Amino acid sequence: MSQRVPSTSSIYAFSPDNPPVLTVPDGAVVEIDTCDCFDDQLRTEADTLETLDWEKINPATGPIYIEGVRVGGVLKVTIESITVGSQGVVATGKGLGVLGDRFEGMRRRYIPFVDGNAVWDDKVSLPLRPMIGVIGVAPASGAIGCGTPGAHGGNMDNKLIGAGTTLYLPVFADGGLFACGDLHAVMGDGEVCVAGAETPGTVRVRFDFLPDLTLTNPVLETEDGFYAIASAGTLDDAVTMAVGDMADLLVARLPMELADVVMLMSLSGNAQICQVVDPLKTARYGMSKSVLAAYGFEL
Ligand code: CA
Ligand code: ZN
Repeated sequence: MSQRVPSTSSIYAFSPDNPPVLTVPDGAVVEIDTCDCFDDQLRTEADTLETLDWEKINPATGPIYIEGVRVGGVLKVTIESITVGSQGVVATGKGLGVLGDRFEGMRRRYIPFVDGNAVWDDKVSLPLRPMIGVIGVAPASGAIGCGTPGAHGGNMDNKLIGAGTTLYLPVFADGGLFACGDLHAVMGDGEVCVAGAETPGTVRVRFDFLPDLTLTNPVLETEDGFYAIASAGTLDDAVTMAVGDMADLLVARLPMELADVVMLMSLSGNAQICQVVDPLKTARYGMSKSVLAAYGFEL
């Protein structure tokens, strides 16, 4: 039996001062209901971006306190499943997204989900690839709005954070104080209009504490690879951080010095964009398990 957290138990900023809405033991599996990034305010034809309460954006369900989780270690979050709603919403407009200066007004579209596809129009349907936009833990101090990514995770908008993947988050506050939200039923790299197919839903995760692992930024493990994820004021700086984090992980675990690690990365790894529309930009640097397995790499 897993415990369940309702979407009404939500925060708008990650902070060590947020009281936990649930406390679970290390190793627990939890089902987390989430609102969409608009706090489910856009549902009908009458609901528009003009009627939106912009104070209520990017809620994350939580925080969840995991017993035994301590500052300095890593919270391993195994994403067992993601269930999305029956329709999504996407929006753009003045000041929103990469081309926000080309618009005067606001525009939103509802996207029905039918038989595992996001129906754009009568010509194009996109297979659903549900992902978690906001997922993280509390920072060491202060409050970081759920719309901003960082070392604690947060609004990374990484389309690879889906079911079957494992996210490793550095812990900055005892208990971790985990929260997540902002599900996208489908999204491309960059999130250029400022949104994915935003949807409410349910995430099922397992928590495990890794006391002996040290990370500076989140790392994602997928079926095929490991990805260092980093956020910074510019995409250039985010890529530099992600490349540096991956190099550090490899130097510590592979029988190679830095120059050889970087050359192997250059031949086989990939620098990729997560999003370019949030207050900090997010990049990931991926290395294939087919390469790393030869050296017995593990976190
Ligand atoms: Ca987001
Ligand atoms: Zn979103």
